[in-house]
Amino acid sequence: MKLLTLKKAHAAKIKKGYPLIEKEALAGSAGHMKEGDLVDIMSESGEFLARGYYGLQNKGVGWTLTRNKHEQVDQAFFLTKLTKAAQARAKLFEAQDTTAFRLFNGEGDGVGGVTIDYYDGYLLIQWYSKGVYTFKDMLISALDEMDLDYKAIYEKKRFDTAGQYVEDDDFVKGRRGEFPIIIQENGIQYAVDLNEGAMTGIFLDQRHVRKAIRDRYAKGKTVLNTFSYTGAFSVAAALGGAEKTTSVDVANRSLAKTIEQFSVNKLDYEAHDIKVMDVFNYFSYAAKKDLRFDLIILDPPSFARTKKRTFSAVKDYKNLLKETIAITADKGVIVASTNSSAFGMKKFKGFIDAAFKETNERYTIIEEFTLPEDFKTISAFPEGNYLKVVLLQKK
Ligand code: SAH
Repeated sequence: MKLLTLKKAHAAKIKKGYPLIEKEALAGSAGHMKEGDLVDIMSESGEFLARGYYGLQNKGVGWTLTRNKHEQVDQAFFLTKLTKAAQARAKLFEAQDTTAFRLFNGEGDGVGGVTIDYYDGYLLIQWYSKGVYTFKDMLISALDEMDLDYKAIYEKKRFDTAGQYVEDDDFVKGRRGEFPIIIQENGIQYAVDLNEGAMTGIFLDQRHVRKAIRDRYAKGKTVLNTFSYTGAFSVAAALGGAEKTTSVDVANRSLAKTIEQFSVNKLDYEAHDIKVMDVFNYFSYAAKKDLRFDLIILDPPSFARTKKRTFSAVKDYKNLLKETIAITADKGVIVASTNSSAFGMKKFKGFIDAAFKETNERYTIIEEFTLPEDFKTISAFPEGNYLKVVLLQKK
């Protein structure tokens, strides 16, 4: 077994349960390490801290797997982790009206760097380093040992140079799906394609937020959904009785994809607006036309580059909110969401507060969401709980 020695402060962190091996934690060089090497993580005084694997991710150089030096990392190890994760999702497996959820959430379920989503019998494995990808055969054999009865496995290799998706045929094994398949989420239908680039058509971590919008925030309201992608939030709002929804996304694909999501729910998409344009241009247009919306959803990517500008949640969220506040009706609600792991809830609320102060408007926070239960996180790794959604009302 190769050894990785950690500096004192980092050793203490790992001892407390922190699962990520940070680059700056290494006491010596990692020159002898290969992607996927199993390693014993040691303190400088030679104490065993944990066993883990080496794998370069934008976040670090590997993850701990066990704190028990007698435990082997083999197929049985993965089977134990997967079985426990599946048991914890028993209610979701049984649910009649929800057929897509996260089955295994990386470090939250004991193996950092890999997630598995369940889409109505299809499994989607996402690998975040070449290192963790070396465990592919073992992990899939462990999946085969469970009585999951899946239709097929697909994968996303998210480990090119910048941690981006590697374009490929993502089929792994089983019987190829005929995409789009239609999954259900609290009775809403969503079209999903597991073999069409980096994304699938739906972000499963917003399940509870979509339900809240449909059940409690949409009725009779005019709704603006920005960074709308396939319009998943718009569909939820329309099903909840919104007077009208407007979806805005700069990607050309978003028009056909949004029409599709409306159509699979038997909604008349022509009664709604779907705009392919830059959100910031839309804000200027809406302000000029004096438009006001009762409910505005903001769910931008952490980072995006379009031809004209770059958007970074850390730097630009406050301004995004200021533009939003200007076109929010009195007593209107803003759903402010971010998946950026660069800041926590406190800082996010700071952006919200600053945006309202700078526009001389007042607000109250009415509800908050973080990741749903199937996106399991551990308290020792709070940055794993990346999702922050704050619903606030303009006073
Ligand atoms: N809110 C969506 C997910 C957003 S994914 C959902 O619930 O499904 C991020 C989306 O932002 C992508 O579809 C991307 O095309 C879009 N995007 C990025 N920058 C943009 C910009 N400046 N204007 C409009 N859309 C943008």
